[in-house]
Amino acid sequence: HPRHIAIYGKGGIGKSTTTSNIAAALAEAGHRVIQVGCDPKSDSTTILRGGAELPTVLDSLRDRARKPKLEDISALGFGGVLCIEAGGPVPGVGCAGRGISAAVDLLEELRVFETFAPDYVLYDVLGDVVCGGFAVPIRDGIADRAFVVTSSDFMAIFAANNLFKAIDKYAPSGGARLGGIIANSLQLDHAKPLIDDFAHRTGTEVVGYVPRSVEVAQAELYGQTVIEAAPYSEQAEVYRKLARRVTGDLETRLPKPLNGPDLKDWARDWGDRIFGAERAALRSA
Ligand code: ADP
Ligand code: SF4
Ligand code: MG
Repeated sequence: HPRHIAIYGKGGIGKSTTTSNIAAALAEAGHRVIQVGCDPKSDSTTILRGGAELPTVLDSLRDRARKPKLEDISALGFGGVLCIEAGGPVPGVGCAGRGISAAVDLLEELRVFETFAPDYVLYDVLGDVVCGGFAVPIRDGIADRAFVVTSSDFMAIFAANNLFKAIDKYAPSGGARLGGIIANSLQLDHAKPLIDDFAHRTGTEVVGYVPRSVEVAQAELYGQTVIEAAPYSEQAEVYRKLARRVTGDLETRLPKPLNGPDLKDWARDWGDRIFGAERAALRSA
């Protein structure tokens, strides 16, 4: 039975980069992996496939009189990872989250989980608004565990906190529990302690710290993961360790999200800790 893992986070925070590197690391270790892009941006799997585009599930459902076959909506990427993009609505029309349920339904109908027999199915899900549509992977008993990618930026933390609320809502009726936080793009000194403190306040755990690295940017230019482009780099080792962590035995939790005012107070406290002296100097200058 495959393990289904959902990876959420704010747009642009590094979900697809992180998920694709995890997929590549798992494939490299001999596992069979499916990656399902659940973001209307539809570029989840490009760095597994040399930058090539992939027809989306929603597009193929729109364009054809007949039911799409697996080969219409998927392609093999690095290490044999089966790549799928749920797709998005025609701009201005329809539900952005519908591609996700359409993709999940089609994969079941095509019996992909039986025939491809993956060890892991990774869902790379846009988490800016965890509305009903985007909550499908954690809501309907699809994923066993969910992770959230965040940086130390407040908007990314805000999105993580919203995911926690959604998990708490759906977990009691069979939804996914939280595996933990993936801290991405660490560069500034305060980033790690800030994310650690957010984890502490919400009763969650940071399962991996991914530095901001030039290898990621370089590999992306060639449409590759770091695992493929720079397999001997430290960054590749970071992703391998993260892949073992998110797929391994770990305690899943029900997070304790902060309410709106508490989250704002928490952010202000951190503002004072990081910039307090500078702010005071600027005000008095
Ligand atoms: P998302 O899928 O969350 O929208 P992406 O994975 O597409 O975000 O990442 C957005 C941009 O940030 C990309 O250009 C990617 O290469 C870059 N990026 C992500 N993580 C890192 C990192 N750890 N170091 C350097 N660049 C990164
Ligand atoms: Fe938009 Fe989400 Fe509602 Fe779909 S479920 S229409 S994506 S708010
Ligand atoms: Mg993405």
